[in-house]
Amino acid sequence: MKKIAVIGTGLSALSLVHHLPSLDITFFEKSWRPGGRISTRRHQDYAFDHGAHYIKEDHGIIGFNEYLEKIGATKILNGAFCSNIQNQSPIEEKRIIVGQKGIESIPLEFHKKLRYPTEFSTHIKKIESRNHEYFLLTDDKEFGPYDFIFTCIPFEQSKNLLEDFIDYENIPTLNFDSIWTIMLSFDKRLGSPFQFGYHLNKEISFLMNQNFKHEFFNEECWVINMRAEWTKEYYNIENYVLEDYVIDKIKKFFGSSSKAIYKKSHRWRYSYCKKSLLELSNKNFIESIDHRLYALGDWCQGPSMQDAWLAGKKLAKYFSELRLQI
Ligand SMILES: Cc1cc2nc3c(=O)[nH]c(=O)nc-3n(C[C@H](O)[C@H](O)[C@H](O)COP(=O)(O)OP(=O)(O)OC[C@H]3O[C@@H](n4cnc5c(N)ncnc54)[C@H](O)[C@@H]3O)c2cc1C
Repeated sequence: MKKIAVIGTGLSALSLVHHLPSLDITFFEKSWRPGGRISTRRHQDYAFDHGAHYIKEDHGIIGFNEYLEKIGATKILNGAFCSNIQNQSPIEEKRIIVGQKGIESIPLEFHKKLRYPTEFSTHIKKIESRNHEYFLLTDDKEFGPYDFIFTCIPFEQSKNLLEDFIDYENIPTLNFDSIWTIMLSFDKRLGSPFQFGYHLNKEISFLMNQNFKHEFFNEECWVINMRAEWTKEYYNIENYVLEDYVIDKIKKFFGSSSKAIYKKSHRWRYSYCKKSLLELSNKNFIESIDHRLYALGDWCQGPSMQDAWLAGKKLAKYFSELRLQI
């Protein structure tokens, strides 16, 4: 049986493998856990979905929401939502899909269902080709040979791995925004009339209360996303400076005397692609001329989880059809 390596265990990789027929597949993941930008950070009994927040119910991509529900990874919630806080848009009830036990339930359950071997904490630094076979290299290990390699990682990272084999001259460069996220717990309620909303001010683009998602902690927990433009300007800000700055902004906004009892921040180097590969070049993925190396990610289709699912599904279809001809 042909041997396949999949680099990454984000949603695009999980979707790709799910939509392929049963094959000899091994995942390689630089982190100790699956999921990539779908991540729940835990501290004592707090939990913060500090990457992806929720799935829209009405995104229109058939099969995605249904599959996640079927494997017990998600639940539906109603939340008080404000589409533009600074413009005082009316607060409305919004139905959203969240992880069953934090957003991480999505990759955890999905990865478990696939049952393919996974090399965690394995950062692939290089791909090498010898006698028409491919090998994966970390700083101190080599894996292979493989017949096919799928890099399911952000565009720039996959380009670094693949540019010896793929001519990138005619492929557009996909730009990603970076985003600072801040996780905060307060000892007293802030008194917010909404549970999640966009555009708090010119610095904060989104914030979401975590209590109604996770239920099991008393202190009020929030995840706050800074705007991409702000993150660009303050990309190298010290974490503690950023955290104290945001605590001050939030307390002032809500007129609250609450004390922040936990604070943590994380900078997502690659958060959202501004324009997808599909939009820029009408392609659904990138492949080498010998049809053995592929680059995939949400960025092929768009900036969201459903785009990562769709990207994986489209490449799996193409690859399955192609293999029948090889
Ligand atoms: C702050 C933030 C908020 C978001 N909010 C939402 C939201 O509310 N709703 C929504 O639908 N989407 C949201 N998204 C987007 C969503 O998270 C992504 O679209 C989706 O998770 C991307 O999946 P992916 O598989 O393409 O990439 P990733 O999740 O980035 O997966 C790539 C994986 O590859 C691994 N990897 C990378 N390089 C290597 C290497 N060299 N060797 C081994 N492993 C490697 C990484 O560790 C990672 O696990 C958000 C993203 C961010 C950052």
